[in-house]
Amino acid sequence: MFNRRSFVKRLGMLTAGASVQSLAAGVEKPFLPTKAPIVISTWDAGLEANVPAWAILEKGGHALDAVEQGVRLTEDSINCCVGLGANPDRDGHVTLDACIMDHEHNCGAVAFLERIKHPISVARRVMEKTPHVMLVGEGAQQFALSEGFPLESSKLSPAAEAAYANWLQQSQYKSPTINRENNQGHGPFAPNRLANGEWNHDTIGMLALDKQGNLSGSCTTSGAGFKMRGRIGDSPIIGAGLFVDNEVGACVATGQGEDVIRVAGASTVVGLMRAGKTPQQACAEVIQRIIKIKKDRAKDIQVAFLAISNRGEVGSFAIHPGFSFAYRDSNRNELIKASSWFKVS
Ligand code: ASP
Repeated sequence: MFNRRSFVKRLGMLTAGASVQSLAAGVEKPFLPTKAPIVISTWDAGLEANVPAWAILEKGGHALDAVEQGVRLTEDSINCCVGLGANPDRDGHVTLDACIMDHEHNCGAVAFLERIKHPISVARRVMEKTPHVMLVGEGAQQFALSEGFPLESSKLSPAAEAAYANWLQQSQYKSPTINRENNQGHGPFAPNRLANGEWNHDTIGMLALDKQGNLSGSCTTSGAGFKMRGRIGDSPIIGAGLFVDNEVGACVATGQGEDVIRVAGASTVVGLMRAGKTPQQACAEVIQRIIKIKKDRAKDIQVAFLAISNRGEVGSFAIHPGFSFAYRDSNRNELIKASSWFKVS
């Protein structure tokens, strides 16, 4: 169980300047793969999403194509937390956010996008066909339609409809305690949607390093279930939910978006890697910054970072247990449990 005294003690260690590096190194076994290509993605859904991504990478294809095609598979699934089958906002509409970034700092994003099945591909079109980085709402939808994306039904999926009806009984908006492992069965092997309608997780982020040594990343989400209408989290925000710097590495975030934005999460992780930290150390340090900011409220939120260096070194760290990432290279194809600040109670 969360114990305030031990939390304050740990926080004290941090504020007293305990080396984050040694802290991370003491807890973690950094994951050291051998060579490119590699694809990694967040949560258990990443295992399936890595399949089409890997098919592209092993043939020598580009990381950018891999990260787009990989997460499209998750967006397609009506039974997932990502895409049009996901939980709606408080007003009953599913609104989607996504972004994509390549090895040359080209990037594109959409947010508050409705009735379009593949926000990640619209984000890529924003990157490739407009002078802009981000389109939102009606403008994003108009652009998608002009690019030939079909307008889908506004009807909720049966599971989302049931979850929304359940939520409406209380209509209580609280910040979601998403992505945590607890006694109700959150965690990598828990069912995607919990009995109370809450999702186990709401995002897929994917990073790939191709045979040419180039990195790209993608991130797509329905955001937090039953969010305020118009709410946008970190996932479509370049620098918060995703950042790629081919000279250094790449990072993607998942969890409570507001707290990722507060620390410019993904770009801060990559910045620390530029300064010499391993991906693992960098992820752990930014998680610890969030914990320091949130103080004892950190027990109520989940945030996780997943990062890769341009040499293919992978690291991940979360606030709470329960975050896993899917890893694939020519030797390994598996789900890996990330380390976390709090341990299982
Ligand atoms: N980061 C997402 C958001 O805040 C949610 C998630 O990753 O589960 O919109």
